Amino acid sequence: MKLYDAIVVGGGPAGLTAVLYLCRSGLSVAQVEMLAPGGQILKTESIENYPGFPQGVKGWELADTFAAHLAEYPFDRYNDAVLKMEQSAHGWTLSIGKDTIEGKTVVICSGANPRPLGVPREVQLTGRGVSYCALCDGNFFRDQVVAVVGGSSILYSDVEAYADELVQQRREMGYTSDRDPMNEALEALLQQKLLYNQALIDSVDINSGEVSARIEAYLQSLIEGGIANLEAKEHMAVFNYREMLRQRYEEQFYAQTMQGQVVGKVTVVPGEVERFYNSIDKDSLPIIGEQYVYAQITKFPASLSEAKQRTKEPLLDMRERVITGKTKFSVLARMYSVDMQCCHNCKEPIPERLWRELNKIK
Ligand SMILES: Cc1cc2nc3c(=O)[nH]c(=O)nc-3n(C[C@H](O)[C@H](O)[C@H](O)COP(=O)(O)OP(=O)(O)OC[C@H]3O[C@@H](n4cnc5c(N)ncnc54)[C@H](O)[C@@H]3O)c2cc1C
Repeated sequence: MKLYDAIVVGGGPAGLTAVLYLCRSGLSVAQVEMLAPGGQILKTESIENYPGFPQGVKGWELADTFAAHLAEYPFDRYNDAVLKMEQSAHGWTLSIGKDTIEGKTVVICSGANPRPLGVPREVQLTGRGVSYCALCDGNFFRDQVVAVVGGSSILYSDVEAYADELVQQRREMGYTSDRDPMNEALEALLQQKLLYNQALIDSVDINSGEVSARIEAYLQSLIEGGIANLEAKEHMAVFNYREMLRQRYEEQFYAQTMQGQVVGKVTVVPGEVERFYNSIDKDSLPIIGEQYVYAQITKFPASLSEAKQRTKEPLLDMRERVITGKTKFSVLARMYSVDMQCCHNCKEPIPERLWRELNKIK
């Protein structure tokens, strides 16, 4: 088994920088990247916030420049996924595909994958209108109307998932409700967001140990059928799933703690409120609708020739990269596959359709 001073996992900007510094320090280095050097930069149409490129630079061009910078440095490149990492006598052993390598130090730069919303044409338009990073792409949309996803928003899928949970809970407890679960779910989520945001404003403390314990208990119940099953079902690695749970549980804990504080200050009991309303004239009561109507309106813009051209350009770029041998077609196909990890793991034949599409758009 080959032993390195350092192993860098990931070939995005962070991983490439780590390799650069480690090589320059005279250490023996291996880099493991399951796709191609560049990481998320490769999915980016145009980057406008990187110093040295006043006109902006295409994502893949910047990635190629990063890779070229490292071309002369002596380090071993492994084009495979790190599947397992275990402590060993010298540091850590990493299972990568069929190989196992050992490093005294491991630098993990595995980056992130945004959680998709599942809205129509999201994958095709990622980096060309669909954005997961307000800081990176906000400038492209200045003064235009956009829907912001992230931060403290509530997604339709969140409401649906929560409504399902409510229905399930009631089924288990043996009762039903005549209220629309979607309305109830929206109301509960809105209340949670309000309390959560107030908790952040008030710098409320939560017990993070308790959050972790709750997450681990929940995860254990899910991984009874094996980690691989859970990862296949959720389409993400278990550590990403844990991180997603952390965000969800933390928010719930903040909201509950805040609610405790708010309720703690209440000096009127519900019976007193009821007596007060019973004592006043019914006609003077405000009418509050019990049901809320909400909907998502999706309007796709007309397909302008300009827009078509914009969509074509990245495809032509890709084609050019394949023809000139700058990037392997298999790497591109994996990168732009809807589920990169799945495609990578099962080593399916590369979809012929993509190749035909690329040839069509000459
Ligand atoms: C559509 C889009 C547009 C963006 N636009 C901009 C922009 O305009 N300006 C800007 O500053 N930033 C932008 N970003 C963000 C920027 O790309 C990221 O912040 C940056 O790439 C993070 O670098 P990183 O090295 O930490 O991780 P990543 O770029 O995520 O790289 C991680 C690498 O690790 C690899 N990896 C992960 N797990 C394993 C494993 N188990 N084994 C082997 N390899 C693994 C992945 O394949 C990946 O190549 C954008 C991101 C996206 C998705």
